[in-house]
Amino acid sequence: MKLETRNFYCMFYDVIVIGAGLAGLMAAEAARGKGARVLILARGMGSLPLTSGCIDGLGYFPSSSPAPVPSPLTTLGQFGDFQPRHPYSKVGKERILSALDRFRDLTRSGAVPYAGRFDSNFLIPTALGTYHPTCLVPETMKNGVLSLPGRVLLLGFEGLKDFSAFLAAENLNLLQARGQIAPSFRAKTLANPGWGGKALNSLNLAEALDEEAFRDRFARQVQPLLKGGEKLGLPAVLGFRSSHRAWTDLQEKLGTEIFEIPLPPPSIPGIRLYNLMRARLQEKGVRTIIGLSVLKPMIEGGEMRGLALGESRKSPIYRASAYVLATGKFVGGGLDAQRNRVCETLFDLPVQYPQNRKEWFNTQLLTPAGQPFNSFGVEVNEDLQPIDPAGKVVYRNLFAAGGILAHADSMAEKSGGGVAISTGYVAGELAAKTK
Ligand SMILES: Cc1cc2nc3c(=O)[nH]c(=O)nc-3n(C[C@H](O)[C@H](O)[C@H](O)COP(=O)(O)OP(=O)(O)OC[C@H]3O[C@@H](n4cnc5c(N)ncnc54)[C@H](O)[C@@H]3O)c2cc1C
Repeated sequence: MKLETRNFYCMFYDVIVIGAGLAGLMAAEAARGKGARVLILARGMGSLPLTSGCIDGLGYFPSSSPAPVPSPLTTLGQFGDFQPRHPYSKVGKERILSALDRFRDLTRSGAVPYAGRFDSNFLIPTALGTYHPTCLVPETMKNGVLSLPGRVLLLGFEGLKDFSAFLAAENLNLLQARGQIAPSFRAKTLANPGWGGKALNSLNLAEALDEEAFRDRFARQVQPLLKGGEKLGLPAVLGFRSSHRAWTDLQEKLGTEIFEIPLPPPSIPGIRLYNLMRARLQEKGVRTIIGLSVLKPMIEGGEMRGLALGESRKSPIYRASAYVLATGKFVGGGLDAQRNRVCETLFDLPVQYPQNRKEWFNTQLLTPAGQPFNSFGVEVNEDLQPIDPAGKVVYRNLFAAGGILAHADSMAEKSGGGVAISTGYVAGELAAKTK
């Protein structure tokens, strides 16, 4: 077990957040903002490296709808009627907007500023040449929004398996021909980015593009490929530590607008966001312990009393006035499925799912209506406290946020980031007020 420990060492906190995904990081940010001493305990870094790095607000409603939602904010007006148990309905419009504003301000204070708001969706291109509705994007992606007309050169790297510029351009041009998007595309592949014998993958490319000398050489190779007035679309590898600088610098060198297109995992924009949020929290004195294999809750008198880092009697115990559970769903590790049972892995909290196993899955794997198991999770009240089937609060000082919550299908609705940020923010603030 590799433990990472930073900042002040103390076993007593105001708030312990369990989970270091987007919901947990946002909960820690909100609790620290209220003056709480905060500790994050987590097994791993969560799902951000799997995501596009964009924050989906609400892409489709109902989730089976073929057309993307133009404005998550406007559509939210219908949520209370149709989805009263959805986490967005519990948190409410005002708190969602405050949370997303806070997130955007946080990113703008660092090296990965985000653009966009909850009031309108962007359609951004995917590596396969489809579109993805999302509402907050790293600035390095905003010039690729598909409502902006113009001509685009998509540039791939020969040997980079995760991105075929030709496939993406062909599919995007089909969408343009159907009038679904504005710009038109053509594709080129760069044969040799000129960096010696390193393996050609997104991480190595991103690290190379952090270096100005490499960007100089890259710009000299790309310039002759660009036609006048064309924008440049690149896979999302524009720098690892200093993406915004790399993006601005390349735009200046090439004299045109550039944008990144998200790639399959590992996602460089997702890792950039994780690194930014974690570094900000550490600067503010939030302690993080990541890499835990065993966390054992200690419960007494209807409340959480502590978390032991291991099974032995000598294991260190961390205590707090309140706890935020942000352990995600099946991918994050917060939920697990046995043959006839779905369980919450840490506290064995009641989980919402149909008793008949046949209702867990849709036999068609990739259906727009989504898979029922993606909406399983823990039921909470409006203060995001887990409740039992009778509506009774399970532990007075426990709050839950993000993917672990029931009734949101982030895959079909495209709402994962928005739900994680808004519920994380609210749970963090409420936990900080709990004595
Ligand atoms: C492949 C994929 C792509 C996606 N793409 C996007 C996208 O582009 N945009 C978007 O908005 N959303 C996307 N989503 C959805 C989004 O990732 C999630 O909705 C959101 O990140 C959930 O965040 P979370 O913090 O709740 O959980 P997670 O990110 O899953 O984090 C869970 C955390 O809890 C920890 N943990 C779990 N169990 C324990 C335990 N017992 N003890 C200690 N720690 C524990 C984990 O180690 C981790 O740190 C995607 C999801 C997937 C799976």
